[in-house]
Amino acid sequence: MRRRTIGIVGGTFDPPHVGHLALARSARDALGLDEVRLMPTGQSWQKASTGASSAQRLAMVRLALQGLDPAERLLVDDREALQDGPTYTVDTLTGMRAAFGPDAAIVLVLGSDQLHNLPTWSRWQTLFELAHLAVTQRERVSLQGLPEAVEAEVSRRGADALPDAPAGGIVFFRMPAVAVSATALRAQLARGERPDGLSPPAVLDYIDSHRLYRRP
Ligand code: ATP
Repeated sequence: MRRRTIGIVGGTFDPPHVGHLALARSARDALGLDEVRLMPTGQSWQKASTGASSAQRLAMVRLALQGLDPAERLLVDDREALQDGPTYTVDTLTGMRAAFGPDAAIVLVLGSDQLHNLPTWSRWQTLFELAHLAVTQRERVSLQGLPEAVEAEVSRRGADALPDAPAGGIVFFRMPAVAVSATALRAQLARGERPDGLSPPAVLDYIDSHRLYRRP
């Protein structure tokens, strides 16, 4: 029987934008994933203060996916957002492994900025026992000059295609550059602009009606 392959795009999604959707779709198509879950963090431990609460970020991710054809196989995973206090990816993946079983391939999908950050994640080397990493180049963030410990894992685990295993590989895939970040969107919104086309209309309506990201 074919192994189930589940992609996870974790992030703050503060707010969600078309770059996140493009990342999820590109990973799905490039790696042949059965589904991709967008998983907003709970209270963020790396980003000191986010603009929106975890409940609001979760609501916006739901709206970003609302109305998509189910054949797209893009889903929301609310397990971190609904948890109190900081969450660590390695703990979340441990829970997923228990839920999805030992044979499923779990694929953590990351932009290259996150690969540079990896050594700041709690118990990051344990991630490879639980999941694969799938990394794409993010605009202006090169895959060169990685921290030495990350480079060593890439040499050991790097592969051109997803290995037929539940976890342990690092695979790179290409996607067309999408020049958008949540930071840039928040700046636009703070100026009172509506960044049409950079985030789904339902998300922009939610931001508007909840008066998020505005300057006080
Ligand atoms: P911020 O600007 O607040 O740091 P962000 O736009 O980078 O936010 P995150 O929620 O931190 O969004 O990102 C979640 C994941 O999506 C990360 O792996 C990140 O690399 C990736 N990502 C975000 N924007 C893009 C984009 N435009 N293209 C490809 N990947 C992206």
